[in-house]
Amino acid sequence: MHMRINGAEVPSAGAGWKDVKNPATGETIDRVPDGTPEDVKNAVESAESAFPKWSGKTGRERGLLLFHAAAQVRDRHKELGRLLTIEQGKPLREAIDEVRGFCNVLEFYAGLSSQPAGEAIHLGSQGDCMVFHEPLGVCGAIIPWNMPVIIMGWKVAPALLAGNTIVMKPSSTAPLTALSISAILEEAGLPPGVLNIVTGSGGSAGEAIVTHPSVQKVSFTGSCATGCRVRELAGSRNKEVILELGGSDAMIVMNDADIRKAVDGAIRGRFYNAGQTCTAVKRLFVHRDSAESFISLLKVRVESLKVGNGLDPKVDMGPVNNRQQYDTLSEIMRSVKENREGTILTGGSPLKGDGYNNGYFFEPTLVRDVAEGSALLTGEIFGPVLPLMVIPDLDAAIREANRSPYGLGASIWTNDLATVKRVYHEVHAGIIWVNRHLTVPPEIPFGGTKESGIGRENGYRALQEYSRTKTLFLGW
Ligand code: NDP
Repeated sequence: MHMRINGAEVPSAGAGWKDVKNPATGETIDRVPDGTPEDVKNAVESAESAFPKWSGKTGRERGLLLFHAAAQVRDRHKELGRLLTIEQGKPLREAIDEVRGFCNVLEFYAGLSSQPAGEAIHLGSQGDCMVFHEPLGVCGAIIPWNMPVIIMGWKVAPALLAGNTIVMKPSSTAPLTALSISAILEEAGLPPGVLNIVTGSGGSAGEAIVTHPSVQKVSFTGSCATGCRVRELAGSRNKEVILELGGSDAMIVMNDADIRKAVDGAIRGRFYNAGQTCTAVKRLFVHRDSAESFISLLKVRVESLKVGNGLDPKVDMGPVNNRQQYDTLSEIMRSVKENREGTILTGGSPLKGDGYNNGYFFEPTLVRDVAEGSALLTGEIFGPVLPLMVIPDLDAAIREANRSPYGLGASIWTNDLATVKRVYHEVHAGIIWVNRHLTVPPEIPFGGTKESGIGRENGYRALQEYSRTKTLFLGW
């Protein structure tokens, strides 16, 4: 596939290409241009030319277009879901859900298009002020490979509705569905240049987006290390950023919780998308009174997960997306075993043998009583490995939940309102779920505290992230 600049497919100004592989088979399924700073320059120029007309439309006109585009993407959800499975690895039903989720995001923002924005302020004898919300101009979006379609929606939909134009870089290991979707948006009537997609490496095309003087704001989702680099580059140019840098979400199961419901929550919370979700359950704390019954039920469920090619409808979990993830996971589990960092109840190794040999498959893994300082607790484990600790009481659970540099989400499983109140007030995170984990609909603001990033995506607030105020002072 080619990049999309100014409403057309274009090759790179350089001669390079990047192969895109199916993580379940190791086969090359397509290739995309290895975009250069020159390509980014062209894309930004196209976004700049499209800006006056796009920002000059009424919010209602932009909203109608988003509605129309969502309908066209929805019509093709099966074909897009299949493409997403082939390039990303997730089971087809999860891929289709993600494509539908993208449509939900577009429709949510389209629905906000007729909401009033701005304020009128009466200042007595001094006069009256009107505060308008104006788009920023050209915005940059940098997308990861774990949820490449929904995260595209979270960035693109509010930015477009607010009247901005966009230059977006998808991840090098999962760029295809995003490219197909942007072509569909153009077929649905999005004017050329409003959304431009430059493929290529983060260090080259990605940094060129962040540093281009005409790009007003950059929204980035990915690792902490890369996020810090993006922030540094943008900050030294006085540019705003939204950073969503993942998490190490705690799930706390108290002794009054519905155990079956909590086990379901832990399975979905950790093993959905092979554990490669920013808000996945990455540390599980279980009250000692219910620990043994909870753990034995959880172990049975983890062992029953069927791993394989996501196109097989019987499969619960696909491969991890890329070689780097696979190697990182393998290395972490090697260290856990060698240094006795916990008791592995099930799994713990890459999957080899029939049907697995060329893919990045990893066993669904459950490790209990993880030692302090283990990478399973200190880092962001992006894969199907669930560390579990038994805790004596709520004080310990809260203390442990906060012992992480991240603060994206956390969940508490209980029927006791006083417990909910304490966790809500004392656990540092952008979202606290009660008897649920992972769900992030477009209606609610999403983002973290501490090293999980800055700014918010989703909800009404995201529209404010993509606009600035300008005041008209009428001195009568
Ligand atoms: P990165 O943060 O490196 O990549 C995310 C996106 O940023 C990709 O599009 C990447 O491009 C781009 N990028 C890379 N370097 C730069 C740069 N210097 N300037 C601008 N953009 C850049 O994540 P990885 O893919 O390396 O994953 C590593 C770890 O990050 C995972 O194990 C996981 O812990 C975490 N992660 C968290 C995510 C989340 O949802 N919060 C999502 C993905 C990863 P390219 O693809 O070309 O490298």
